[in-house]
Amino acid sequence: MLELKNVVCRYGKVNALVDVSLSVQQNELVTIIGANGAGKSTTLKAISGLLHPVEGTIHFMGEDITNASAQQIISMGISHCPEGRRVFPEMTVHENLEIGAYTRKDRNGVSDDYEKMYDMFPRLKERHLQAAGTLSGGEQQMLAIARSLMSRPKLIMFDEPSLGLAPNIVEKVFENILQVKESGTTVLMVEQNAFAALDMCDRAYLYESGHMTLTGTGKEMINDPHVRHAYLGG
Ligand code: ATP
Repeated sequence: MLELKNVVCRYGKVNALVDVSLSVQQNELVTIIGANGAGKSTTLKAISGLLHPVEGTIHFMGEDITNASAQQIISMGISHCPEGRRVFPEMTVHENLEIGAYTRKDRNGVSDDYEKMYDMFPRLKERHLQAAGTLSGGEQQMLAIARSLMSRPKLIMFDEPSLGLAPNIVEKVFENILQVKESGTTVLMVEQNAFAALDMCDRAYLYESGHMTLTGTGKEMINDPHVRHAYLGG
């Protein structure tokens, strides 16, 4: 479904990604783990067209999207749920969901999806008229996920969905992400919480200093001595 081949990304003279190749198959949950600054967020930005690689190619559903605009990429079915949640704080929960659906013209489908989102996230239903900026951190993360799903993406990308959340809320957010996968949406997720991410994913990639250094199933990665020592606290 998604294929990056030998991708190189730079910010000025800084090499953020060096020769990265990775793939995501339909219905998979794939995760990227690695230390701060390893290039994980840059990968998501390159896929969603916020940044263009200087070398290499990105294909989605057989089409070359290496230099496509962010707008074109959204309309092809890729949704990016960025780090830090970034809901529109002055708008209500419901208005935030409406914004997520702005590229769609199927009004009935959109109405159905509001109901689906409120079923998946009952907290958001209770608070649908509340200003998003007054929600708790966990609720804002749920809203950010629901808003990304409102575009009915084929592939959804989550950047650090657990960042800054209390452990019991993290668990809930991960459950929601598994639900998203089970409902048929392919997921690519960047996570600092390496154990949880490896435990729930189908396959994973490890990044170190802009290079992709290891890949395997979640189980293989959890059992890898280097991963255990460097990322799972031994
Ligand atoms: P984190 O987990 O800390 O978010 P990351 O693996 O997502 O890390 P990236 O955000 O992809 O890392 O950053 C990769 C490298 O690119 C880092 O060295 C970072 O300092 C650099 N970088 C990221 N954004 C910019 C930018 N806008 N301008 C210059 N350098 C940047």
